[in-house]
Amino acid sequence: MAKEGSMKMDVENGPMDTDQMDCDSQRQDIVRIVVISDTHGLHDKLRLPRGDVLVHCGDFADRGSVADIRAFRDWFQSQKSRYSDLVVIAGNHDRDLKRPDAIDLRAEFSLPGSTIHFLEDQHLVCAGGRLHIFGASWGTCDSDSFEDLDLTEGNSSNADGIDLLLSHIPPYWPGRTSTVRRGSLSLAKVIFQKRIPICCGGHLHWARGAVRYKARHGCVPQSTWFINAASKFPSSRDPQPDDGGVFPPVVIDYNVQERKVAWVDGFDKFWRKDIPKPFSFAVDRWECS
Ligand SMILES: [Zn+2]
Repeated sequence: MAKEGSMKMDVENGPMDTDQMDCDSQRQDIVRIVVISDTHGLHDKLRLPRGDVLVHCGDFADRGSVADIRAFRDWFQSQKSRYSDLVVIAGNHDRDLKRPDAIDLRAEFSLPGSTIHFLEDQHLVCAGGRLHIFGASWGTCDSDSFEDLDLTEGNSSNADGIDLLLSHIPPYWPGRTSTVRRGSLSLAKVIFQKRIPICCGGHLHWARGAVRYKARHGCVPQSTWFINAASKFPSSRDPQPDDGGVFPPVVIDYNVQERKVAWVDGFDKFWRKDIPKPFSFAVDRWECS
């Protein structure tokens, strides 16, 4: 459960009373997605609410050692009793930085008894068939080659039906400060072309936050949420969370029938002044072509 006093936001109606947090998760049309990223070995300091799907967007390790990776894997698997599905993608720290091919991550997450879905450019249907996730590999992030992806890989479902795209790097955020213009333009294009309602990632720890974009003149008839869920705070010079060196998880209640975010939580007061505030959504517009 999120700590007392953290920001909660109903997408349509603004800040909510904290007591409402559990209500929507009981509805059949709502899938609760708990998102963490960039834990860099601090995963056991997180306090996570229950949900349907637990997602990690990469950089679970810090120096990419086998010991780092296995420690995370075992902790992640231990969360199984609280979620129907556990989903993870890799970031740039989840490998031996001197010998990038030395560790077989797929094998590490495929031990007998493992129920973890480790996605490398693959499409997964989870939450009892209600939620379609596509998880990008670090290779795709590193080469910025999202436009080459086959979004049906691993599943025959229609690529247009993806609800959540996971990518360690965030999409390019148009119209933001110059320091935030470091995301992927090809990722942003794919999200809008395929009308994917949510994209979650991390990587740029200082750009943690959520932005909802709407397209100009209705060329994309739904809004898209970009959520950077980086859990470990950026540096000791920045405002710090109260507990354990990690930010709260991001909690998304997603309406699977309407294919839109109903409610999101997890962004609080810890913001650098030069980074856009969370929930200043619907003010930017994508240049559609
Ligand atoms: Zn990181």
